[in-house]
Amino acid sequence: MNGNRDPVLVVGGGIGGLAAALALSRKGIPVQVLEQAPEFKEIGAGIQLGPNVFRMFEVLGLTKAMFHWSAFPTGLEFRDSITGDTVMELPIDKKFHDKYHAPYGVIHRADMLNVILDACKQSNLIKLATSQKVVAINDDGRTISAKTESGETYRGAAMIGCDGLWSTVRETIVGDGKPTVSGHIAYRAVLPTDEWPKEYRLPKMVIWCGEKTHLVHYPLRRGELFNLVVVFHSDRYEEGWDTYGDPAELHARFVEKCEPVRMLLQKVNSWKMWVLCDRPPIKNWTKGRITLLGDAAHPMLQYLAQGGNMAMEDAVCLANQVEASGGDYAAAFHKYQELRYLRTARVQLMARVFGEIYHASGVVRELRNKVLRDWMTQGGVDMSWLYGEQPELPHVANVPLPPPTLLAS
Ligand SMILES: Cc1cc2nc3c(=O)[nH]c(=O)nc-3n(C[C@H](O)[C@H](O)[C@H](O)COP(=O)(O)OP(=O)(O)OC[C@H]3O[C@@H](n4cnc5c(N)ncnc54)[C@H](O)[C@@H]3O)c2cc1C
Repeated sequence: MNGNRDPVLVVGGGIGGLAAALALSRKGIPVQVLEQAPEFKEIGAGIQLGPNVFRMFEVLGLTKAMFHWSAFPTGLEFRDSITGDTVMELPIDKKFHDKYHAPYGVIHRADMLNVILDACKQSNLIKLATSQKVVAINDDGRTISAKTESGETYRGAAMIGCDGLWSTVRETIVGDGKPTVSGHIAYRAVLPTDEWPKEYRLPKMVIWCGEKTHLVHYPLRRGELFNLVVVFHSDRYEEGWDTYGDPAELHARFVEKCEPVRMLLQKVNSWKMWVLCDRPPIKNWTKGRITLLGDAAHPMLQYLAQGGNMAMEDAVCLANQVEASGGDYAAAFHKYQELRYLRTARVQLMARVFGEIYHASGVVRELRNKVLRDWMTQGGVDMSWLYGEQPELPHVANVPLPPPTLLAS
């Protein structure tokens, strides 16, 4: 390292920001995290964990704690939400593990964040500050500084903007305006398992795909909870995050769907709503010793369930590059973005394609169902490009299978 012991300023303490802080601390680098909210907190909903993110947990020493809080689905089932028919079923079994050498899990977002937060708290290299909304940043050539709404100024050797979809840091160093509103809305809810209909307490992820809508449900927290995500097309909302949804609009959008889908929607009284946005991929999200990570760098639609997973991969890659550069942050940040932009661009673009597939109508819907059925008879689809090892990330030979007691039931 170059001997500069000023901290790296991490703006934003979500999954990406805390993962970046932890990964840098593992390389001996001091970090100051600045989070705008009064506490480090994720909203109540589930997040899917692909085999690729379990490798990052292994690198960061988080596997055991993540295993403790996760549920491990036995499969992924696609159903047509108009006919109710199962179109494709992909087992997540030993064969899946032998292919990707890591499990597929689901976890409550709050549990995931807490695992990373606890690990950060155990490091004396990480300082965590809440109620610190960064409103301005400056690079005077020697020091990077962040001014917060409460009037404080933090100084550091470098800065990583992990401040999400509406990133202030991005606005300063890239300046490409607001994210792209997709016209798709997500409603999310989590229920105790005993409030979820018995016949649908399935130990797998079930996706009901319909015209301009889809619904996903899966067990969470070792099977104690059920997670429900519903997405539909709507032009009623332009921008929104963590607000309450309108059940009347939701039920109207699903009126033509099969009876089980309408019945499942009735189980929830209160929904949280998200207006889904992304951005077109960009090649340069770094300026000198300031860079971006996670949704601030490459926000994506959730159709591949990878935004949080990509943020974890970014964090590991970035910390490795800082170490390799001997503390030359500008060089490290450029190398990190060079190594990451095509991978994250592919996930951003493929997420849009998967959204089209989930929500297909007419002939396209029929074709989707046929192609998915063909995939199933051919033994499934190869997702190595997404779940497999990446050259820019550390080699992890094998993440063990979770103990059988942690499988959802
Ligand atoms: C419906 C839905 C389902 C999803 N499902 C999955 C899934 O299954 N798997 C998956 O991997 N991903 C999923 N994602 C994506 C995932 O949630 C995001 O990609 C991930 O949360 C990004 O993390 P982040 O840390 O980059 O940003 P964020 O989680 O947005 O965190 C940003 C943080 O920065 C703080 N902040 C913002 N501005 C400032 C400021 N000016 N100063 C200080 N702090 C600031 C915020 O308060 C927040 O804590 C889903 C997303 C949605 C909407």
